[in-house]
Amino acid sequence: MSQKKFCKYCGAVIDQDSIICPECGRKLEGLNGSTPHIIIQSNTSSKSKIVALLLAIFLGELGIHRFYVGKVGTGILWLLTAGLCGIGWIYDIVKIATGTATDGAGMVIRN
Ligand SMILES: [Zn+2]
Repeated sequence: MSQKKFCKYCGAVIDQDSIICPECGRKLEGLNGSTPHIIIQSNTSSKSKIVALLLAIFLGELGIHRFYVGKVGTGILWLLTAGLCGIGWIYDIVKIATGTATDGAGMVIRN
């Protein structure tokens, strides 16, 4: 037997875990503090994965893909060190290709 509560709008007795009142159809957000707040948080970068990947493959030694995704500091480092002697370059290609690279704001480049 599930717990019951009252709709704060129409007073109908409804299931404790209802989010929408079946009687009046209104949203019961925050009633009794029992309704979980659903927060949809996007952590997907607005940068294009394919653009970042192509830049990394063709211009990765120069860190151009890092400038593109907003990682200017390491972009300069890549430029000066030829992508950490190629190691950082290969690393970045793998990270971007597998959809686990992040942009300058920490958002995942997956699209
Ligand atoms: Zn209601």
